[in-house]
Amino acid sequence: MHIKSIPMWEGKGNNYAYLVTDDKTKDAVIIDPANPSEVLPVLKDEVAGGIKLKHIINTHHHWDHAGGNEEILNAYPIPIIGGKDCAKVSKTPKHGETFTIGDSIKVKALHTPCHTQDSICYLFEDGNDRAVFTGDTLFIGGCGRFFEGTAAEMHKALNETLAALPDDTKVYPGHEYTKGNVKFAVSVSQADAIKKLEDYANNNKQTQGKFTIGDEKKHNVFMMLDDPAVQKATGKTSAVDVMNQLREMKNAS
Ligand SMILES: [Zn+2]
Repeated sequence: MHIKSIPMWEGKGNNYAYLVTDDKTKDAVIIDPANPSEVLPVLKDEVAGGIKLKHIINTHHHWDHAGGNEEILNAYPIPIIGGKDCAKVSKTPKHGETFTIGDSIKVKALHTPCHTQDSICYLFEDGNDRAVFTGDTLFIGGCGRFFEGTAAEMHKALNETLAALPDDTKVYPGHEYTKGNVKFAVSVSQADAIKKLEDYANNNKQTQGKFTIGDEKKHNVFMMLDDPAVQKATGKTSAVDVMNQLREMKNAS
């Protein structure tokens, strides 16, 4: 499996679209191609180079993820797999439903409602190579705002659904927010893993695909709800209360 990141609105939203291609068949999907003026030139080149674009995949309905669907469809009339509220969606997979891309990539849809009720993360597996596309649910070192959901839902999404994935699964979020996330994280805990992430973010503009679910459990305070330093900083002990308080603190930071 080959993953190509397409940064969009750099210096503003710092979004990512991702083009994922099956090595053998060159069948490919484009994830969250929200800004066609930045994505279409890449798709044009890649299609000319032999990839076969099969689906648009959306992580959730927000305009900066699904807002490019109509224009992409004009150029490539292909089905859209995404949450129920995504523009022009053709199919919403059930939680745990799987489908394949080409010969080798197996995709599993994981419903993670909270940031939006239609948020879906997608686990891509090609042999032992694993990646999860997390939209605005999980960021490197952080998580999305609870626009349509509760702290209990985000706790379930991060600490049950995503935490259950193999530790070596690489994380590809919908935005490059690591610098801001780690700035908040160090105010909560000075754990070595958090300091290490801070150092990485200060020296690298892009962090997508560089960290795994296993790493997130050690440096993402929203996945460290049992950690004594996190509990102390929030003044809470029950997981949902800690999650809620962390989000409030981050929103105010
Ligand atoms: Zn969003």
